[in-house]
Amino acid sequence: MQKLEGKSVFGGIAIGKVVVYSKADSMVARKHVEDTQKEIQRFEDAKEEAKNQLAGLYDKALKEVGEENAAIFEVHQMMLDDLDYIESITHIITSETVNAEYAVACTSDNFSEMFASMDDDYMRARAADIKDISNRIINILQGRSDVLLEGNDPVIIAADDLAPSETVQLDKSKVLSFVTRKGSTNSHTAILARTMNIPALIGIDFPEDVNGKTAIVDGYAGAVYIEPDEAMIEEYKEKRQKDIDKKKMLLELKGKPNKTVDGREIMLYANIGGVSDVAAALANDAAGIGLFRSEFLYLESNDYPTEDEQFIAYQTVARNMAGKRVIIRTLDIGADKQVDYFNMEHEDNPAMGYRAIRICLDRVEVFKTQLRALYRASAYGKIAIMFPMIISVAEVKRIKEIVEEVKKELDDASIKYGDVELGIMIETPAAVMISDQLAKEVDFFSIGTNDLTQYTLAIDRQNPKLDNIYDSHHEAVLRMIQMTIDNGHKEGCFVGICGELASDTSLTETFIRMGIDELSVSPTFILPVKNEIRKVDLSK
Ligand code: PEP
Ligand code: MG
Repeated sequence: MQKLEGKSVFGGIAIGKVVVYSKADSMVARKHVEDTQKEIQRFEDAKEEAKNQLAGLYDKALKEVGEENAAIFEVHQMMLDDLDYIESITHIITSETVNAEYAVACTSDNFSEMFASMDDDYMRARAADIKDISNRIINILQGRSDVLLEGNDPVIIAADDLAPSETVQLDKSKVLSFVTRKGSTNSHTAILARTMNIPALIGIDFPEDVNGKTAIVDGYAGAVYIEPDEAMIEEYKEKRQKDIDKKKMLLELKGKPNKTVDGREIMLYANIGGVSDVAAALANDAAGIGLFRSEFLYLESNDYPTEDEQFIAYQTVARNMAGKRVIIRTLDIGADKQVDYFNMEHEDNPAMGYRAIRICLDRVEVFKTQLRALYRASAYGKIAIMFPMIISVAEVKRIKEIVEEVKKELDDASIKYGDVELGIMIETPAAVMISDQLAKEVDFFSIGTNDLTQYTLAIDRQNPKLDNIYDSHHEAVLRMIQMTIDNGHKEGCFVGICGELASDTSLTETFIRMGIDELSVSPTFILPVKNEIRKVDLSK
């Protein structure tokens, strides 16, 4: 037996034969042509045919994996109409007097290199999309059809990498798992695997001779076992059955209302760290995003993310959530989240130090850049903004002044924005104690139980020695939650919880009885919490 390790992008267990999926390499020769107009026409015709094929794939994907994941094929259709892309191809044909296939291949290389070198995971992943659309055109120009999976038994697909169009063309009933050498958590293979609810691993350096061999994919441990013995297969069959039963039970809840037996609706939202988590949020039936930790945009970057970079990220999330509420938290760095380029001085007690809103109110330009990006993105969906680590009404008033300045700047530049709800995180005991006053200033509260527990119990949440007494169920924390809900409701605010405690199903009923309006949890916890909500009966 051989064990290969990589990174899991979706959990689950698969047992079956491996098929190494290799694409027919498009061999593109450079040929001199006399009639460049004719080549341009060949390219134009192939482009139209590619768009037709993509429209067909969109319909197929829509039925199989839902609107959000099918959207990539609409994006591909739009990419085919991108003026820079078209211009590059026609320019190469005319200036070098070469065949259309060659011009497409060169443009594909140039553009995908450009995306691959970008300092942004999401944009880097787009390099695969450029290659994908270009290969489609080349195949059409060369009269080749798409490669499909043959054979009858469901298999584990091992590939170098998989393009979205390849993944969607595979017959889903024949795929047990995806295992790729390359690929990222942002890749569509990962996204589709999550949607299809099958295990997927990336970074698995499988040998070529694995083709046809039996393997076990453990999507929880991030491991593949090639040619396991009988005992191991039996052990994994049992694990797989338990996993299937549980997932099936939870999946049946998808699309069902997040309502208690007596009809109270709870907004069940997802916590995300970036654009790439949106697919998981939707696949798990999130009714909205309750916490987008925007600091990840800063943490993943080597320099301040620009207004445009941020705008694209927020706009993408807002668009993909298609009108559902997206609560984006402004930058919360400091304490456990340090960013080099912020050049922050050493602090003896960073958890109680220069962090989050304190930095933003001090470095107002950094704050304004983010607010401008957020307001611009608000024209594309239902964006709400929330501010972390609030301790006073004065802070909220100052924030609102800055927000007004930003709105005025956008008005002056005739830039559109939507109606944005403003809220604050309640994660300090101070905020809880003055929540009656704070509620008059904002539209909503979101309780950050991770920090609220830390500050209420005076226990550093990062200190492993104190893990055993870091207790979010502490009576003091629960009373603070109740107080926040009551004070919020008196002023018409909706109140949610976005700390880890929101996914603790042993407290779901307690929170609902307290009057909580919203619970925001990691995507994988949405269905378990929904299950719990639907069992609660407030009439009893
Ligand atoms: C919290 O403090 O509960 C919270 C949600 O914020 P973070 O964990 O990002 O500090
Ligand atoms: Mg916090």
